[in-house]
Amino acid sequence: MLCADWPVSPIATRENTLRRTHGLFLGAGFLLLYGLCLAMVKPYSMAVSYPFQLAAAYAAVAACAWRAMKARSPVQLGWWLVSLSLLLWAAGLSVSAWEDLGQHATVDFAKLSDLIYFLFGVPLLVALSLPASGREEKLFAWLDGLQAAITACAIYVAMFSSLPFVHGSNKPISASLLAQAYNGENLLLASAATLRLLAEQTSGERRRLYGLLTGFLWCYAICAGWYNQTTIALQEQVGLYDLLVALPVTVLAVGALCVPLATSDGDYTVEKRTLSELIDGIVPVLYTFALLTLGVFVIRTHFYWGATALVVALAVFVIRSTVLHSRLLRSELALREAHDRLEEIALTDALTCVANRRSFDRKLQEEWSRSRRSHAPLSLLLIDIDFFKPLNDRLGHQAGDQCLVRVAAALQSTMLRNGDLLARYGGEEFAAILADTHRDGAEEVAARMQAAVRELKVAHATAIGEFVSVSIGISTCEEAEAEAFEWLVETADRALYLAKARGRNRVEHIPYQRVETR
Ligand code: GH3
Ligand code: MG
Ligand code: MG
Repeated sequence: MLCADWPVSPIATRENTLRRTHGLFLGAGFLLLYGLCLAMVKPYSMAVSYPFQLAAAYAAVAACAWRAMKARSPVQLGWWLVSLSLLLWAAGLSVSAWEDLGQHATVDFAKLSDLIYFLFGVPLLVALSLPASGREEKLFAWLDGLQAAITACAIYVAMFSSLPFVHGSNKPISASLLAQAYNGENLLLASAATLRLLAEQTSGERRRLYGLLTGFLWCYAICAGWYNQTTIALQEQVGLYDLLVALPVTVLAVGALCVPLATSDGDYTVEKRTLSELIDGIVPVLYTFALLTLGVFVIRTHFYWGATALVVALAVFVIRSTVLHSRLLRSELALREAHDRLEEIALTDALTCVANRRSFDRKLQEEWSRSRRSHAPLSLLLIDIDFFKPLNDRLGHQAGDQCLVRVAAALQSTMLRNGDLLARYGGEEFAAILADTHRDGAEEVAARMQAAVRELKVAHATAIGEFVSVSIGISTCEEAEAEAFEWLVETADRALYLAKARGRNRVEHIPYQRVETR
């Protein structure tokens, strides 16, 4: 089911259009100005390039934070994580500017800024692994945090060949290997965002988040790959291709500002959607998969860190699977209990709490078949309250209902065998199925029933007495035949009719016989 956005007021629509036009012009104008400055100020100067790149990066941070403040949870968390990752990226750029412009670089190739650039993927991947249902377990959030911390350490160790805050000899990874690692990270992020977008069935804010992220991350993967390739090949620090750095973040900033906010989050539905079901299942383990890959990559050069990453990834996977599995078992149990309860409700008469007509039909069919198989007798009693209509008319419907409840309880109390069933057949009529019971036994039960109702002493003055009484028609089938069991009901009904005709408050019996329905 597609969840349509709520209607938007004309003022909000006008605001959206204005913001879209202004945003697009601003973004395009900004990139044009940046390009012109790069082309005009020769030789290419970092002092010209960095301010534009920093402005674009922090604008993207602000745009995503604005979106996070406007969105509602749980999509809000996704936008905050995107904003955080862009903040890391902007911080990396700031450190780059400090390192390059102030000649502060201390390490051969891998710099502090590279580490921060790499870490930008961590909150993004967490955002892309958020559960589709929007229900995030606290435990899982901690596990994701642990994975993120291990990722950061493993990346640091892989890049600098030394532990954080420990002064030792640095053997940073080569430029080409670093570029490859960046490309791997970017492709993983872009693919993860695409998967989320494909799995998203609703048209709410979550779809817009993944849509914008998919556009941004593919743009980023292409631009960063191209940029890194060019800088390594040309061994130059600044060029017109510097535009590639600012382009993706500018696109995201414009997108976050211009794409109208959805008024719904995009409700999670459990419709049958094979592809998205599959992707929804993969998404929570996406981060674990990334950490496993990183562990395999790191273990070649830094055994303990690689092994730690692998063990943590596997442990998180095991804990997550165990928690989810036990939750599944619990909900299965609850579902079964709810199903049993529903079935009980479906087979019980709401007023009198004895079995209802559906239950009666089912039981009669079962007992008929059993009687046929075992050649055992089967008796059926139809019990009808005498002169019930006048009682209703005189005392009102509620008093009538009360009488029905009491009579049902009294009748039920006379059914002593486990296999017997008392049901409300309809209106003020009840039916009792007595399995493996001959005529004598059935008449004995009928007499007990009459006595139990008499003992209730429900006042009801009629031509036949002062208290409520019942008439009972019995039919017994000594050995069930192939014929339809409905004839047993028909003969019992005839017996009841006879009891009424012969003065009421009495029991009549007619043996089972083939009779044509009236
Ligand atoms: P008889 O001795 O011939 O059986 O007379 P009667 O008045 O009992 O027979 P009848 O079948 O004409 O009346 C049945 C009445 O039962 C009609 C209806 O008002 C009442 N009735 C049926 N279902 C309910 C119910 O759920 N609650 C109440 N209060 N009355 C009901
Ligand atoms: Mg009746
Ligand atoms: Mg009646």
